[in-house]
Amino acid sequence: MTRSGVRPESTPAKSTVLPSTQKVQRAKVAEVAAVLPADSPTVSAGPSDAPRWSTVDLGPELPMSVFTSTERWNAERIGAVAIYCSDGRWGEAFDEFCHRNLQIPRYDRLAMAGGPACFAPRTERAKVCCQAALDHLDFLVKVHELKRIVLITHYGCAAYAEQLHQEPDECLPVQLDDLRTVGETLQRRYESVKVDGFLAMRRGLTISFHAPAS
Ligand SMILES: [Zn+2]
Repeated sequence: MTRSGVRPESTPAKSTVLPSTQKVQRAKVAEVAAVLPADSPTVSAGPSDAPRWSTVDLGPELPMSVFTSTERWNAERIGAVAIYCSDGRWGEAFDEFCHRNLQIPRYDRLAMAGGPACFAPRTERAKVCCQAALDHLDFLVKVHELKRIVLITHYGCAAYAEQLHQEPDECLPVQLDDLRTVGETLQRRYESVKVDGFLAMRRGLTISFHAPAS
């Protein structure tokens, strides 16, 4: 049970009051509990949503929360990971593509500079990073029981500009080649996992996603 009846984030927490915040939070819960008879439904909530104040679990001693997410916890794993570049300017579009087109909500993220490029090392140093990335992926495939790997490379990726010293249009053929070879490599490594690759393209403000011809 969460502290669903308490909204401490409505007033900004101050660091000077942190030592006593837990007491304040507990006092607030007790205050509300005194107003609301134990286990009685509130006016706005249905019976199934009614807080059962007698069962409120305050959890470990923590400073007062600074924010509470509107997202609700869903314990079900989707069994898919998307591997893409760390570049945050693309992040929302990656999310939208995975959620709305690929239909993989709550997918695992493996975000690294260059994304799939990490699995196509061109230097000895990059090979060390590649092994580390493979270790991460091994863990996710095994422990999170992945059934699908989605590779996304994006247009104008700074990782490719650094490696190839070429303009975005000139980097594209290399990126598409990496997408194919990395896809084949991972498919061989994880035989029971489906591996797909996509290019995230940008023209002006428009971002589109493309499945390269195999
Ligand atoms: Zn990038």
